[in-house]
Amino acid sequence: MLPPDNHVHSEFSWDAFRGSMEATCERAVEIGLPSLAFTEHADFSVSTLPPDFVLPEQWEPHTAHHPDGARVLTPPDLDLAGYLETLERCRDRFPGLRILSGVELSEAHWFPERTADLVRRGGFDRVLASLHTSSRRDEAYEDVSWSLQQADPVVVYRAYLAEAVRLIEEFDGFEVLTHIDYPVRYWPRDHHGFDLTEFEADIRLVLRTLARADKVMEFNTRLPLDPRVVGWWREEGGKGVSFASDAHVPEAVGHGFQEAAAVARAAGFKPGADLFEFWVRD
Ligand SMILES: [Zn+2]
Ligand SMILES: [Zn+2]
Repeated sequence: MLPPDNHVHSEFSWDAFRGSMEATCERAVEIGLPSLAFTEHADFSVSTLPPDFVLPEQWEPHTAHHPDGARVLTPPDLDLAGYLETLERCRDRFPGLRILSGVELSEAHWFPERTADLVRRGGFDRVLASLHTSSRRDEAYEDVSWSLQQADPVVVYRAYLAEAVRLIEEFDGFEVLTHIDYPVRYWPRDHHGFDLTEFEADIRLVLRTLARADKVMEFNTRLPLDPRVVGWWREEGGKGVSFASDAHVPEAVGHGFQEAAAVARAAGFKPGADLFEFWVRD
């Protein structure tokens, strides 16, 4: 049996152009997933776009020109009513599948009021805390995929991990820290290859802080998490693992879960008390 997929996007995430909650549920049933959570984006940071940024036409309505000429992107709010309604419809249509509600909060520690308000109104089953930047709170916001093209990637990833520590220390309203390896997805090809060992101390510090806060680490399979990180999580006292396809299209739900489950087992984790729960320490 596959582990639950606790991080999936649908048409209610503003960057999921081909997202579909219904088609994703269909696919989940087809591959035998016991449970999935639709954790849509809640992004409150406003980005200044790089001058050469190729804007998808779907984002056109969310951009504006600043007086100084820069283009800025303001992610749209989550349509909470539409989302909850569609979720209910899917629960009726797929009674054998456990469908959880959820949200992926980006830089939640910078937006305590807006975050608390959304979480209260949403009553979500799964609350994920994410970081998509290595910018500091008082700097112009940049997605890490852009920063990696412009600065030393080693410095960028270190800054990302340092901000992740601040996120955990300053914000408590979440269960799962997502994709600790998010910058690795966008590692520049012309740079010497990515070397995980360069970041061991920084990653361990994030994991230790997360374990002390009594939270769960995500095993994101979009780029399969390096097995060494799962081992470090166990050593640093991690209590549980949450599996995540981070699917933005229906066919990606549960992607790579067989392999991820084997890695988690080898690192000393096992399924929780029931099929729907996070995996726990063996
Ligand atoms: Zn994310
Ligand atoms: Zn995501």
